[in-house]
Amino acid sequence: MDKAVQLTGLTRPEMLSFVETLGEPAYRGRQLFAALQNRRLRSFDDITDLPKDFRGQLNEIARAATLKIESRYVSDDGTRRYLMKTHDSLPVETVFIPEERRDTICFSSQSGCPLQCTFCLTAQLGLLRSLTAGEIVEQIQVALNDAYGVGVKPPRGTNLVAMGAGEPLLNLDQLLKALRVMADPQGMHIVPNRVTVSTAGVVPRILDLANTSDRPHLAISLAAPTDELRNELMPINKRWPLDELLSACKVFEKTLKPAERLTFEYVMLDGVNDSDEQARQLANLLNRHTIKSKVNLIPHNAADPLPYQPSSDERVDRFKNILESKGIHTYVRRPRGRDIFAACGQLAARQTTLNTRIQIGAN
Ligand code: SF4
Repeated sequence: MDKAVQLTGLTRPEMLSFVETLGEPAYRGRQLFAALQNRRLRSFDDITDLPKDFRGQLNEIARAATLKIESRYVSDDGTRRYLMKTHDSLPVETVFIPEERRDTICFSSQSGCPLQCTFCLTAQLGLLRSLTAGEIVEQIQVALNDAYGVGVKPPRGTNLVAMGAGEPLLNLDQLLKALRVMADPQGMHIVPNRVTVSTAGVVPRILDLANTSDRPHLAISLAAPTDELRNELMPINKRWPLDELLSACKVFEKTLKPAERLTFEYVMLDGVNDSDEQARQLANLLNRHTIKSKVNLIPHNAADPLPYQPSSDERVDRFKNILESKGIHTYVRRPRGRDIFAACGQLAARQTTLNTRIQIGAN
């Protein structure tokens, strides 16, 4: 067990208190925070504007980085997947998705996941442990440093989505802390308005998030229009069935900003949840609860040994048309990074032998 203080998870005020306990003035704390969060340096030895003795002291008692990059995979479409290891050797995966308008980083909130969604590879790992705020922040730093260079400001800004491994609302405290650290204007300055958190439907935490100031956006993974099917695909539904989940969404809706909508994600599984009848059931369900929302249809990403295939493009279009004919705003999320196991539901700490794998020793 590494007892050293993990400094990437500290807010600026906490960093100031930390250096104070070492007998250093407050400006050293500000310097250290800016070096780690704004310049995204991952080793104390690189912070050459700090006195050498102080750097030596930091090396003894603290860590500027704890995640080790094991592998980096680059997809044909430019998506990058990073497989990292925590100090206790657990896998952490992060995906960088270049986009025309603004790049997106999909990060993990847990190593593995305790929920058992049957269409998701991560489920097969089980929960290894929840990640700390510092481990969440580090994932973003690693992806940005690799994509743009150490400390280089992302030219188009960055969107973050908590849609990697894990159920983010089962690690809400650490997640919100990481978001506070990243929102700091003296650090990475990625504000919660640029962040979307996706949940399988942990109802009490949805209500907690509704009461959180400076909260991120929320997306709910539905995957089925009826309790019967959702119980099968997402067993969390047995604990919080659809009506309870949508009632919580209705409470959350009251906190939406004028241009904001709640997102419902719907993974499209061939022959399982993609019929015309199921599209009508989904539209009726959402219309019954009258929530200001939109639906993202996500064609499933097939991966052995999952027993599903993606719906055909025609089926997805037809499903979309039915929802739209009933007044539901619907979008189709085209898969990215399938060839490197970086797409939704494919994160399972896979080491592939594809030629897209590149070992990198430094970050
Ligand atoms: S879909 Fe999300 S919540 Fe469900 S098992 Fe996978 S990682 Fe966990």
